[in-house]
Amino acid sequence: MPRLTAVRRFVSNTGARIYRIACEALPGLSARVYLILGAGPATLVDAGSGEGRCTEQIVAALESIAEEHGEDFQPRRIERILITHAHIDHIGGLADLVGRTGAQVGAHPFDAPVVSDWDEHAAVFNRRLLDFLEQAGVPGERHSALLELFGFAPGRMACVRVDFPLDEQHPLPGLRVIHTPGHSPGHVCIQVGDILLCGDHILARTIPQQWPETLAAFTGLRHYLDSLKKILQTEGTRMALGGHEPPILGVRRRVEEIMAAQERRIERVVEIVGGSPSPPCLVDIAQRIYTRQQGFFELLALIDVGSRVEYLEQLGRLEVANRGELRGGSRQPARYRLSRTDSRITTIAPVGEDA
Ligand SMILES: [Zn+2]
Ligand SMILES: [Zn+2]
Repeated sequence: MPRLTAVRRFVSNTGARIYRIACEALPGLSARVYLILGAGPATLVDAGSGEGRCTEQIVAALESIAEEHGEDFQPRRIERILITHAHIDHIGGLADLVGRTGAQVGAHPFDAPVVSDWDEHAAVFNRRLLDFLEQAGVPGERHSALLELFGFAPGRMACVRVDFPLDEQHPLPGLRVIHTPGHSPGHVCIQVGDILLCGDHILARTIPQQWPETLAAFTGLRHYLDSLKKILQTEGTRMALGGHEPPILGVRRRVEEIMAAQERRIERVVEIVGGSPSPPCLVDIAQRIYTRQQGFFELLALIDVGSRVEYLEQLGRLEVANRGELRGGSRQPARYRLSRTDSRITTIAPVGEDA
């Protein structure tokens, strides 16, 4: 188990106190949950996974805040729990924490259905994931094992009602909500004065996982890159605190690094497709990039590469080489080549001007 760091306190330029709580969300993955005091009612941002000792660790940390930081605070005073996005490591602990505090839950309308009906969402997602694996060129006999590894199992989390929408149309006193779709459809960042609680949209060390839009609308690199630009346009952010990993002090620099890394990853796909003797499928491309990934990480890598190929198709730089075959109902994987007809929008010179 990773060593958990102590509760750490941050103060925004508006005087809000933000307490960072570390918990072991999944084996080998620690997550951060934040308590905000002094910006409207006592607010918790994210809820951990609810698995292993995660909730216990969050509650123990919350209980320590009064004494260690001199706050007049008890966990039962938490009035609202805001969800940055509906991934299991951020929402699995909701039911238990709502039960202990009676807090109201806020989530973006695009992610709220996952919180309130995990099982139905899991069924739809797994169906789409199967189609994705088939199109990607993963042999049929591996599908069910990979699906199981992915962990979108029915009954994995106890569902809770979402009480209010967390979006840009419904301002909350003391906080600003910024919708940042990409890593998940309803991902939001929450601005508290000059501190940005950025969930998994921006991480200090890791390039956040991406998914093709065929798996979920409002994910995909196109949305993600737009959402990164949105953060660049957000004025007055001194520091960002993510759902994992250390605080980010140079937010602009980190966003630019992530954009540059995505750019390199995209060009790497173009290079591989362009240099292949015959059109590769997603599995072929992923194996060239990630030579050592196995099991769960192999699946995440494949999904991430899927988001890049999809984006390149949207840009008109890649196309499916065996479209006719697929149209005829073949269950062959989709194979990609560089676009022969460059469908990128070009500027057309007005009539009468020299080209
Ligand atoms: Zn996430
Ligand atoms: Zn996460």
